[in-house]
Amino acid sequence: MSTKKETFIKNRITMMVVDELRKIVGKDNVSTDDLIIALHSKDAAGLTGKGIAVVYPENTEQVAQIVKLCYEKDIKIYPQGSSTELSGSSMPNGGVIINFGRMNKIEEINIVDGYVTVQPGVRFIELEEELSKHKYMFPIDPGSYRAATIGGAINTGAGGMRGAKYGSIVDWILGLEVVLPTGDVINIGSKTTKCRQGYNLTKLIVGSEGTLGIVTKAYLKIVPAPENIVYAAAFFEKIEDAMSAVADIKRSGILPAIMEFLDEDVVEVGRRIINSDVEGNLLIIGVECNTEASERMIDTLKEILKKRSKNIIFAKNSKEMEEKGIMELRRAFYPLSMKFGFQQLKTPTFVLIEDIAVPVSTLHKVVREIKEVAKKYDFATLIGGHAGDGNIHPIICIPTEDPEKFEKAKEFYFEIMKIALNFEGTVSAEHGIGLLKKEGLEMEMRFRKSEKALDIMRGIKKVFDPKNILNPGKIV
Ligand SMILES: Cc1cc2nc3c(=O)[nH]c(=O)nc-3n(C[C@H](O)[C@H](O)[C@H](O)COP(=O)(O)OP(=O)(O)OC[C@H]3O[C@@H](n4cnc5c(N)ncnc54)[C@H](O)[C@@H]3O)c2cc1C
Repeated sequence: MSTKKETFIKNRITMMVVDELRKIVGKDNVSTDDLIIALHSKDAAGLTGKGIAVVYPENTEQVAQIVKLCYEKDIKIYPQGSSTELSGSSMPNGGVIINFGRMNKIEEINIVDGYVTVQPGVRFIELEEELSKHKYMFPIDPGSYRAATIGGAINTGAGGMRGAKYGSIVDWILGLEVVLPTGDVINIGSKTTKCRQGYNLTKLIVGSEGTLGIVTKAYLKIVPAPENIVYAAAFFEKIEDAMSAVADIKRSGILPAIMEFLDEDVVEVGRRIINSDVEGNLLIIGVECNTEASERMIDTLKEILKKRSKNIIFAKNSKEMEEKGIMELRRAFYPLSMKFGFQQLKTPTFVLIEDIAVPVSTLHKVVREIKEVAKKYDFATLIGGHAGDGNIHPIICIPTEDPEKFEKAKEFYFEIMKIALNFEGTVSAEHGIGLLKKEGLEMEMRFRKSEKALDIMRGIKKVFDPKNILNPGKIV
């Protein structure tokens, strides 16, 4: 068949599918506008793709019908929240983009049973606002919480600022409603905290990056919000000392909810946010405790931190901490890296964000080694992340228009992953595999002499999605 004829047939099928989609969700909930599609075909990592249409379903029934239609016509499907992922996992390559912006209802808050039922398009900030009215919280809070959706976070396996105490989202999902690539709907897990349903399909969906099924509802575990959090922001001459302070605190028996860090270059470039002339490598500690115990906790933290830091700022509660701008500085790590890159390179910058995790006790050695390797490569590199759970995000700044430098940066990117593996860590803690970490995942499994695990993953993908239409090309 000639290419011209093929293209003609493809276009006809696309038009027919778009007509069908309009019948399912209504004409206002489908867009084939190039600009709209382009807006939905770019992620926060700076990767771009292209879809044939964007569809905005309003309920599970519509999602099931869309998927069934795509399954019958062999059209690829790309589920999408706010596209803030950092691994290319939401990038379309042809096919229909399903955006969950209009499935954004918090359906039930059940305090007695300790769960909340949400649609996938609910944003973290909206959930936080609603739960705070009941003095409750969902403890996972990614730095992108103002934009990121629950559906997206479930599918990347996200973590957040409170990871030191609360881990990542996988521990906070009780159950899910999932539309399979055939259009069948399954309900897995339950609303109870204990549930044995044979193989744990709920946990399998978490972190599956929209490759196995589409999450249309989630039952999330919730807990009472702490009465108060006291904070310490300590500045250290050497980054290794900041990391050793993390171990000091853990050894003391305190379990902070927040243990975040930024290296001295991020502090320097973001100083305007905190409006202070502090300098050095920053470690932020946040400990949940009753108001009456706050002073005592501050004294304890002071005792521990002053061994390695000469400059410590304390805040008695979250409001005081927000006023000092220190959490905002931490949240601005990613945009600040662009600014840093531009300052250093004097040209528009692309940033490559690492996401390794290592055992907390090795953090001081790992950051030192990354800094050494960075000197060898001579890239403007920043380091920060979630120290409490050993999750480090080195950010490599590269001139946008320099393919040679990009290749070199990729070498550096892989060398950082090797460092993580040598310290018994992992190549991806929370951003997922997507497109950028596929080779990294293979490297990790080779390193662990567990290539067979990749075959098992490919087998799982085939069982869920025999036609390979759901977010194809991601993970394995
Ligand atoms: C400034 C910044 C800070 C960040 N901080 C953190 C952080 O602290 N911790 C962290 O873990 N991440 C962080 N991230 C990464 C990202 O924000 C999170 O992974 C976030 O949870 C993704 O949510 P999203 O709605 O943007 O999902 P998207 O990016 O749209 O999608 C993510 C993945 O989920 C799939 N997906 C989306 N919705 C569904 C659905 N309903 N069903 C099936 N699959 C679906 C997509 O196909 C894709 O594979 C940060 C990103 C930025 C830009």
